[in-house]
Amino acid sequence: MIEDKPTVAGHEPLGVAQEINWEDYRDHLATADKDGRRRWLYPKKPSGFWYRHRTRLSWLLIGIMFAGPWIRINGNPLLLVNIIERRFSILGQIFWPQDTVIFAVAMLVFFAGIMIFTTAFGRLWCGWTCPQTVMMEMVFRKLEYLIEGDSAEQRALDAAPWTTGKLFKKALKHIVFFGASFIVGNTLLAYIIGSDQLLRLQLDDPRHHVAGLTFMTLFSLLFYAIFAHFREQACTFICPYGRFQSALLDENTLLVAYDNKRGESRAPLHHNETFDHRKAEGKGDCVNCRACVAVCPTGIDIRNGVQMECVNCTACIDACDTIMDKVSRPRGLIRFASLNNIVHGTKQRFTPRMGLYSAVLAGLISLFLYLVFTRCDVETTLLRAPGSLFQVTAGGKIENLYTVKVVNKTMHDIPVELRLENIPGKVLVMGSSHFTVSAAKLAQTSVLVELDPLALTGTSTQLKLGVYSQGKLLETVSTAFVGPRK
Ligand code: SF4
Ligand code: SF4
Repeated sequence: MIEDKPTVAGHEPLGVAQEINWEDYRDHLATADKDGRRRWLYPKKPSGFWYRHRTRLSWLLIGIMFAGPWIRINGNPLLLVNIIERRFSILGQIFWPQDTVIFAVAMLVFFAGIMIFTTAFGRLWCGWTCPQTVMMEMVFRKLEYLIEGDSAEQRALDAAPWTTGKLFKKALKHIVFFGASFIVGNTLLAYIIGSDQLLRLQLDDPRHHVAGLTFMTLFSLLFYAIFAHFREQACTFICPYGRFQSALLDENTLLVAYDNKRGESRAPLHHNETFDHRKAEGKGDCVNCRACVAVCPTGIDIRNGVQMECVNCTACIDACDTIMDKVSRPRGLIRFASLNNIVHGTKQRFTPRMGLYSAVLAGLISLFLYLVFTRCDVETTLLRAPGSLFQVTAGGKIENLYTVKVVNKTMHDIPVELRLENIPGKVLVMGSSHFTVSAAKLAQTSVLVELDPLALTGTSTQLKLGVYSQGKLLETVSTAFVGPRK
């Protein structure tokens, strides 16, 4: 909050008289003073219709976020991004680095989804579902209100000299913040290394997990720094989404918006002043109480229009609706609306741009599902053993040595058999043509292929090997078989 909170009292004017400089807000950030120093925000505790719904949704999201690493589908985590072992699980489906095409399409689905969502609903994601906002506003901010009180009390506490009471409150807040950051950091770690590995990290001898424990500490410190100090700056300075949103919004995008036609010109509401009088004097419904500014977690004044810092959290809608109730004016001076809705009164509509984005998104989702459901259970790579040519056996046959790698993408062991598909001959894998690849593992072995010299078509013969499991062909791989000149 930049200025004092509004006064809502019986006989005092509601709101403050203010000379408006329409350009001033463009010249500096709401969270920086004229010298560029950071202005600490003390957003007032929000309440109201939208805040209640946001709170309910956030508990659901927080529940999913913390339970995510522990939920299993077909024995696989709901979501795992194991960068270290290059193993990924999405909705219980295991993906390997070899699934790059699926990953690329998944990324395209993600970005196309963001584009269409932003075009239709602005930054609703940021204020309602982004983990950073959800944790900041629904966990850390609430803990802060609990320990230090609402906006005015926090401001007074920070301005007060150091006493035992202040020291106690500050120490308690930062201990609680660090504890909560530790839980968040551990959860992130569980998404990277898996919940089983996290438990081992927590319960085993620490000397065996120096690297893991270092990351655990770093993540905890990182989240503590974000939630205790960095806060809204993460959305303003770090997150790229706010920066490119202006390229995606148009006049039909639904946003948290101030109805300037109805609100301007803003002026305090004096005792006994009626809204008919105000209208006659050219005054609008905005009583300049600044309640909308007081609750804003990014410190902006939504009456200046769409701004990069606005995360569409809707706190200002609730604050303004409360004021409108008090002055007996219709709610919705600040509301979810498009520019066209405010300027021309048109309803939200499905634009050609949204249609195009939706068609692209539908196509990408179909492609993604096709790739996932037609994906082979194994991925086989067959390479000639480095530096080897061919050997002639005592019986006059020609042998080539290969290295075969088989990735098992399922969560059950797969017995594998290699068979020559296009030419008669023998395939020997460590003495037999069968071997088993353990669940979600990669198996590597040497393979000897033995052919009759009469079957060769030249110094290099095209070879096709079928990868079978229990008699069923899983995939076919090709390679070259080298032999002597005829
Ligand atoms: S302007 Fe309103 S919707 Fe935007 S961040 Fe501030 S309070 Fe939230
Ligand atoms: S928009 Fe609403 S909450 Fe904001 S200053 Fe005007 S009347 Fe007050």
